Amino acid sequence: MNYLQYFQHYPSSLQAQIEALLEPSKLANYFKNKYPQGHQLQHTQALYDYCHVYKNKYLKNVPRLHKVHYAKGRDLMTGTLGHHSQTRKQHGGKVKTRYEIVLSQLVKHAPEAVLRALVVHELAHFKELDHNKAFYQLCCHMEPDYHQLELDLRLFIVLDKLGSNFYQSPAQQL
Ligand SMILES: [Zn+2]
Repeated sequence: MNYLQYFQHYPSSLQAQIEALLEPSKLANYFKNKYPQGHQLQHTQALYDYCHVYKNKYLKNVPRLHKVHYAKGRDLMTGTLGHHSQTRKQHGGKVKTRYEIVLSQLVKHAPEAVLRALVVHELAHFKELDHNKAFYQLCCHMEPDYHQLELDLRLFIVLDKLGSNFYQSPAQQL
């Protein structure tokens, strides 16, 4: 599997650095050095509270987040790693909009920074549907290091696909 194809939108100089990392032991070392610990947000309530802080701080005009959870079958490489939805429900005479975020189970055992990149990404979609300039500006407003974290998120998915996701080990769950 050529994982480099998932980094093709990066400048070629950066791609050379990425290519040198795409090997199980090198990638694992990169993550061990940069992010020794995994996040502790495995439970839905903790995950919701985490997202809610960002939402309240940066997206005050967007209605309350209804639900945030992990789900299987999402994949950065073949589709999206996260998913956001706004469903409108007729309730009595009112139309209610429910905002929901679904994150791939892949980030359930991951560094906090990787989870943060995905959460910021999905929250930004509540305001900007497309991956346009305004969208990335909003991402960077919520997380100044967004571009680096999105790269780390992509690298993390490769780490997981290579079977080297050490954040899954029981020691990380304490
Ligand atoms: Zn997106």
